[in-house]
Amino acid sequence: MTYPQPTRNAALSRLSDFAANMGHNYAHKRNFDYGANANVAEDLWRDNVSRLSPFIRHKLITEQELIAAAIATHGAQGADKFISEVLWRGYFKGWLEQRPQVWTDYVTNRDDKFAQLKTQGGLRKIYEQATEGRTGIDAFDHWAMELVETGYLHNHARMWFASIWIFTLKLPWELGADFFLQHLIDGDAASNTLSWRWVGGLHTKGKTYLATKENIAQFTDGRFNPTGLAAEAIPLEEDVSYKLRPLKIPPVPPNAAAFALLVHDEDCHPESLTLPGKPALLIGSTGADSKSPNGVSDNVRTFANSAVADALARGAEHFGCKAVMWEKGEKLGSIMAKAGLERLLSPWLPVGALKDAIGGEIGGNNVRWVMRDYDAAIWPLATKGFFPVKKKAPDALRALGMEL
Ligand SMILES: Cc1cc2nc3c(=O)[nH]c(=O)nc-3n(C[C@H](O)[C@H](O)[C@H](O)COP(=O)(O)OP(=O)(O)OC[C@H]3O[C@@H](n4cnc5c(N)ncnc54)[C@H](O)[C@@H]3O)c2cc1C
Repeated sequence: MTYPQPTRNAALSRLSDFAANMGHNYAHKRNFDYGANANVAEDLWRDNVSRLSPFIRHKLITEQELIAAAIATHGAQGADKFISEVLWRGYFKGWLEQRPQVWTDYVTNRDDKFAQLKTQGGLRKIYEQATEGRTGIDAFDHWAMELVETGYLHNHARMWFASIWIFTLKLPWELGADFFLQHLIDGDAASNTLSWRWVGGLHTKGKTYLATKENIAQFTDGRFNPTGLAAEAIPLEEDVSYKLRPLKIPPVPPNAAAFALLVHDEDCHPESLTLPGKPALLIGSTGADSKSPNGVSDNVRTFANSAVADALARGAEHFGCKAVMWEKGEKLGSIMAKAGLERLLSPWLPVGALKDAIGGEIGGNNVRWVMRDYDAAIWPLATKGFFPVKKKAPDALRALGMEL
């Protein structure tokens, strides 16, 4: 299986190819995982799901563009299921943004569990079998290898995998979430952490997801029929309750002196940011390896680095300015001083590993954060569950000219 080019052009081309499938076809077939090489067109992509997530994750294409394409092709009703799934992403982003401690605790607990692997031989053995695809559960072993090789798993496979990891293999969910972040090209702090917590019964308290062989057989079109899976999924527990910290939307930066614009791998479409003019310099930054203490796969690193390179090239042409990379060990302040610039703007850095890695230094340079209108409209709605977000989204998006 080949993987798409990490460019905006490739994202637009995939969006255009998939738009016809965003209606009835998606609603009826999205839950089927036909396998990496099945049901594919000439370009070797599955057709029942969009596989746009790596592009969306790096904002080579925006959620707003996806929803607009879905409405234009099928109408809001006809593409309701697809639009809902896109909204799930915004829900998770907003939920984590307003409860950053969930991420901080994940990082602490993940590191504790990695320390336990060093001292507990039994646990280490099962972890190694799981991540190397040697558990003897054929479907699970297949997905572990598919993830490592391709950097992608179908949504249903992610659910089954996480459920078997937690309830059959009884491994800590944090290590599974980390395994995903090492290998998923779309690996995202919010969607990944909260989906693992959802499967384990921590996100919707007490509600778990149990993978069964009947469901796997049906939705893999008979490719797998695994035995020995856990018969029940008793919810995980934690003795912490996370308080909501309402999001403060930053005002649009005022029109003033010349500024540098940061381009990081959380947002690779600088041309569509609301800015107070044209930047005098673009500064590119990547940090994919910060996602895991073990670093990330070549697939993940290459995609993130190339996405930023693509954004810098496009941005430099669009704004008519120079672009430089912020290299490891270099001070951001020195890059700006060298260019004679004192003002820095940056697309919002959401809660996650990149913010942990570079957020402090960016903040130290008197940065003005730029939040996208779509995120500012959807994220604050994520105060409780998904369904209130779905209900309020039409009003929230109407202001952006979108009629759901
Ligand atoms: C355990 C687990 C871990 C996950 N980790 C990630 C992750 O790290 N990054 C990530 O982007 N998604 C994650 N997901 C959500 C989902 O599996 C992927 O977004 C989806 O499979 C991407 O494939 P696609 O682009 O073909 O999706 P499509 O079905 O074509 O959906 C279109 C877009 O909608 C969004 N979307 C679809 N389903 C979901 C969902 N359940 N939750 C949130 N957004 C969704 C994605 O941006 C996706 O690209 C995870 C799900 C589970 C169960």
